[in-house]
Amino acid sequence: MKKKRFHVRTIIQIFFLLLVALVVTNKELADSGQGLPFLSEASIHAICPFGGVVSIYQFVTEGSYVHRIHDSSFVLMFLVLILTLLFGAVFCGWVCPLGSVQEWISKMGKQLFGKSYNHFVPVKVDQALRYLRYGVLIWVLYATANTAQLVFKSVDPYYALFQFWTGEVAASAIITLILVLLASLWIERPWCKYFCPFGAILGLISKISLFSLTRDPNTCIDCKICDRVCPMNIKISILNSVRHTNCIVCLECSSEEACPVKDTLLLSTKLKVENRVGEQGRK
Ligand code: SF4
Ligand code: SF4
Repeated sequence: MKKKRFHVRTIIQIFFLLLVALVVTNKELADSGQGLPFLSEASIHAICPFGGVVSIYQFVTEGSYVHRIHDSSFVLMFLVLILTLLFGAVFCGWVCPLGSVQEWISKMGKQLFGKSYNHFVPVKVDQALRYLRYGVLIWVLYATANTAQLVFKSVDPYYALFQFWTGEVAASAIITLILVLLASLWIERPWCKYFCPFGAILGLISKISLFSLTRDPNTCIDCKICDRVCPMNIKISILNSVRHTNCIVCLECSSEEACPVKDTLLLSTKLKVENRVGEQGRK
């Protein structure tokens, strides 16, 4: 079961990475008259759901989009928001190619540092750093609304990951990408945890998602394996419902290889959590 789920997620992650790479490569080819005929000439901005978020202010006040943003960004933004309202930040754990690349580099970090991997940052510092992504979000929204330009592009590692070879990417974005990839050797998903403004929004929305990961306190044996495998360092073993702003719904904790008690960690609704906790209270 664990193997199957792991492979399904990995296959989906690879699919989206290749899809974005194909779209941006085709755009470059199309600009020189050699694009593939069966693909549109969409740029990376047109397929970025965060482009829709940063355009909201301009769309509401002037009825237009920020430079380089299209209808498609809005459509994708709404699809991701609906997905998040249903299941939490699935986009981060299953779709975002930057998250996937950090995760694959983390496998090297685990080989190098074993159990110390992802535990180098002191807990209090880690908790404080997690607020940074809200600061990044406020800055991006404010600066974009003021300039009507994609200001985030100048430091965006996602943009640098797919466009570094075009000569259009600012040195600051390439430096950010290199730092994020290097940091992934010590910290799992450092960009997602500390800096990603889109992850910040999705994390907040996931607090009211229909489904969330729930722990059954009646069957949990408090082994804390789930805590150790969580890439986002969430203390799952002390929660009944994992409505955590950093959960990326990777389902690593609920796999059979992690949790030894079948069905103790499951994706379920709020009602189910209340029933489970109520059962424990009656014991
Ligand atoms: S709580 Fe579970 S599903 Fe959420 S990030 Fe951690 S391991 Fe993944
Ligand atoms: S791995 Fe399962 S049994 Fe162990 S603490 Fe976590 S939820 Fe409880």
